[in-house]
Amino acid sequence: MADPTTDTLHRRGLMFILSSPSGAGKTTIARKLLAEDAEIAMSISVTTRPMRPGEVEGKDYFFVDQPTFDRMVEENAFYEWAHVFGNCYGTPKAHIRERLKQGSDVLFDIDWQGTQQLHQKAQADVVRVFILPPSVEELGRRLAGRGTDSAEVIAARMARAQAEISHWDGYDYVVINDEVESCFAKVKQILAAERMRRTRQTGLIDFVRNLTRG
Ligand code: 5GP
Repeated sequence: MADPTTDTLHRRGLMFILSSPSGAGKTTIARKLLAEDAEIAMSISVTTRPMRPGEVEGKDYFFVDQPTFDRMVEENAFYEWAHVFGNCYGTPKAHIRERLKQGSDVLFDIDWQGTQQLHQKAQADVVRVFILPPSVEELGRRLAGRGTDSAEVIAARMARAQAEISHWDGYDYVVINDEVESCFAKVKQILAAERMRRTRQTGLIDFVRNLTRG
């Protein structure tokens, strides 16, 4: 999609964080964004959790054992890392800085702890978006999935989702996902506006200098 501003002027990339409780539809929104917008790429996290069926090494995550993860922490290889539900997850620094400098954006699917850490470290580059389900009933329906899980498992998922929702106020934007297409449209609007921030458009100085030439 042509965007005259970003096509003609150099800008610094941004770190676009999408967080939500599971069941709010974040993964769908992230996939749609990546498929439609060539200027944004996913940050691939490193995790110690076992690979799930269908997941691909280097695409969904970099799967490592605990000693490797600990070594990466020692070597300061992460922007941020956190324990999430009994496993370690971290955002590797490699490639991200270079992408931002070149004017490409990076999409993050990280939890509220990682969001807080990234924001502390790179405030000017970070845009934090939280996606909420439309109602507790709908969240329950989405978490019940295919109906193969026990009531206990579903209740645990629900409690976890509600604990995540309690961190909604650590975000810049909150979007309610009552319908995927309209939620997606709103997320795209946020991204488009954030790309046009004066401070991100590093090419503006020369552009305006030209415009105001005597
Ligand atoms: P899952 O194991 O289901 O893929 O992810 C579990 C949770 O870990 C999700 O809430 C996801 O946002 C979070 N997560 C994934 N990667 C990272 C990361 O690099 N850092 C942090 N802090 N959280 C992550």
